[in-house]
Amino acid sequence: MDLGIKGRRALVCASSKGLGRACAAALAAEGVHVTMTARGTEALAKAAEEIRKANPAITVTEVAGDITTPAGREAALKACPDPDILVNNAGGPPPGDFRNWTRDDWIKAIDANMLTPIELIKATVDGMMSRKFGRIVNITSAAVKAPIEVLGLSNGARAGLTGFVAGLSRKTVIANVTINGLLPGPFDTERLRGPVAKMEAEKRGITIDQLMADRAKLNPAGRIGDPEEFGYACAFLCGARAGFITGQNILLDGGAFPGTL
Ligand code: NAP
Repeated sequence: MDLGIKGRRALVCASSKGLGRACAAALAAEGVHVTMTARGTEALAKAAEEIRKANPAITVTEVAGDITTPAGREAALKACPDPDILVNNAGGPPPGDFRNWTRDDWIKAIDANMLTPIELIKATVDGMMSRKFGRIVNITSAAVKAPIEVLGLSNGARAGLTGFVAGLSRKTVIANVTINGLLPGPFDTERLRGPVAKMEAEKRGITIDQLMADRAKLNPAGRIGDPEEFGYACAFLCGARAGFITGQNILLDGGAFPGTL
């Protein structure tokens, strides 16, 4: 299926690894020129080179920087000032007990997972509307649908972004600019084996590999998600024919969420 976005320009934030990288790769495979960002230069250069090699007809631009800071966003927008596609992503907040979180911890989480995507939408959405094409995908979390107890910072900040977008996405679609959330359940990335997994594995006295095997067994799909699957879903939402899908929060979790809707 040709998604009809060949030659479009995408800014894919936090994309040297994991889900962001998979989105950049899937868009590049559709002929989209991609600008990729991350803080670590080595992994970013490696990911950009791999995507470049696989898609010689497109331009892949790397921008090193922290997307949650004004300087990081400015650098990303300087490299890709008029994106047709914006994929908002950043690292997730740490787990913990809300009794230990300070105001600064909350501000950091809200900055990364709510205000950064809103700032980037603000900087790009009017241009998209004037050009009558835009696709914005916010990578959030399954925690938006079913909160994860130890990830209170994530539950709160991402819910804020989701609420804001619910309103705005109904205002931009008139100009063929859609805004949707992609909600990852468990996907096999570094993040999945990070602090949350370590905390749980330690509590249960098992290894991370055992924990992952248990999680796979408990998932209705019998496995953990492959980031490539996430990238394809993102590319589909960014497709020319996906213009009637806006304000949605699409869960990719192998059926783990038990609700009917
Ligand atoms: P990952 O494998 O750890 O990759 C994170 C990517 O984001 C890396 O390229 C990292 O590079 C970059 N990054 C992180 N913070 C950044 C920042 N401040 N500025 C620029 N780049 C930044 O993580 P992932 O699993 O793909 O997760 C992506 C998002 O989905 C996170 O918010 C995570 O909480 C959420 N999520 C993931 C899962 C899952 O199962 N994987 C489930 C639910 C939600 P640098 O570190 O070099 O900057």
